[in-house]
Amino acid sequence: MKLILTAVPGCGKTTIIKFVKKYATEKNIEISFANFGDYIFEAARAKGLIENRDEMRTKISKNEYEELQQMAADKIGQLKGNIIIDTHCSVKRKEGYYPGLPETIIKAIKPDVIVLIEKDPEFIAKLRMGDKTRTTRDVETAEEISTHQEINRSFAAAYAAMTKASVNIIEEYIPEEKLGKGEFGHAKDAAEKIIKLFEI
Ligand code: AMP
Ligand code: MG
Repeated sequence: MKLILTAVPGCGKTTIIKFVKKYATEKNIEISFANFGDYIFEAARAKGLIENRDEMRTKISKNEYEELQQMAADKIGQLKGNIIIDTHCSVKRKEGYYPGLPETIIKAIKPDVIVLIEKDPEFIAKLRMGDKTRTTRDVETAEEISTHQEINRSFAAAYAAMTKASVNIIEEYIPEEKLGKGEFGHAKDAAEKIIKLFEI
């Protein structure tokens, strides 16, 4: 099964993946992980465009970036077995929201399931403030984060229409302390739900 995992930045996708890896090992389920950004970076480095990851945002033209995005998708599309692809449903720029997975990209990947992780926008805003690796990014209000999550649902519907993939929305709106799963409760809960998709 090919599963695309998306969430707005700062939603805790990396932590979720950590738990998915742990549960997969415990349950003897073989899953490979592909980070779309890593594939883009590798393609850019192979072409001699950049040397380190920080240059991805600044040194690559829009045309070059689109070519790299396609190269990444073509590579990921060739992967076999159970795969989780860590990527973005939409990318926010000053002009508006771009599809992270436009037609030729989503068709190269051919996903079975598109998973959207959602959280309370206020909570995401707080998580972002505590994340020191995120200082260079724009500060967004809870309303803006909420809009981004809504946009991602619409974009996922378009991707589903193009590929027949299902859309699976994992809603983590219950406060973590009420989940009874301790620290990283949301991530554990989301990881359990993702693992279940590989068990059927
Ligand atoms: P992340 O590891 O989620 O922070 O993503 C790393 C980088 O890869 C970011 O700059 C993203 O914008 C980029 N990236 C990830 N997925 C895509 C995609 N589907 N299309 C374009 N860029 C992407
Ligand atoms: Mg991440």
